[in-house]
Amino acid sequence: MRKLIVASNNSKKIKEIKEILSKYPVEVVSLKEAGIDVEVEEDGNTFVENAYKKAIEIYKIIPECMVLADDSGLMVDCLGGAPGVYSARFAGEHGNDKKNNEKLLSLLENKEEHEKTAKFVCAIVLVSDYDNLIKVEGELEGVILDRERGENGFGYDPIFYVPKYEMTCAEMNSDLKNVISHRAKAFEKLEEQIKKHIMEG
Ligand code: IMP
Repeated sequence: MRKLIVASNNSKKIKEIKEILSKYPVEVVSLKEAGIDVEVEEDGNTFVENAYKKAIEIYKIIPECMVLADDSGLMVDCLGGAPGVYSARFAGEHGNDKKNNEKLLSLLENKEEHEKTAKFVCAIVLVSDYDNLIKVEGELEGVILDRERGENGFGYDPIFYVPKYEMTCAEMNSDLKNVISHRAKAFEKLEEQIKKHIMEG
């Protein structure tokens, strides 16, 4: 059975991907499980570029395996798509959710609610061989609030309000978020394509 390496060190992501792919004849392993200790720099201009870079760099190291990588973030319309690929380090320090949210709230302080439309984006790239790439993207549309609401989730979830459900992502339980999120939508698209690739592989 061919192995699929998930080019991430995020255990939550790896668990989710393993669950989704459990019905396919492929052995899903993390970078750690594959014995690969490499940090790929995320210096692309788009989420797809970053996901592609992560996937291809790992594929070069271990071409007998398939490699999957993802990249995600928040894009706010009135900020020209920022924080975008800088979502994790918007306030400087990588992964400081509290500071990132504070910075975003202060940038939007004088904006009306209708001006604060935004979307979460998730890009996934699967490299099967150099001629065989799958690239998919999923999105979730919402509005940035003027204060945090809810305790669940992570990142920008407490200030990202989804009008259809009348709550922020941090007020949703994980069952709901995992069905409607940008990541869930990208994985849905990936699944459609992956059937073909893995079944043929
Ligand atoms: P990464 O794809 O894990 O590198 O995520 C990049 C950054 O985007 C995270 O650190 C968060 O700030 C933000 N982000 C991505 N997905 C979500 C989400 O589902 N909720 C809230 N923030 C997110």
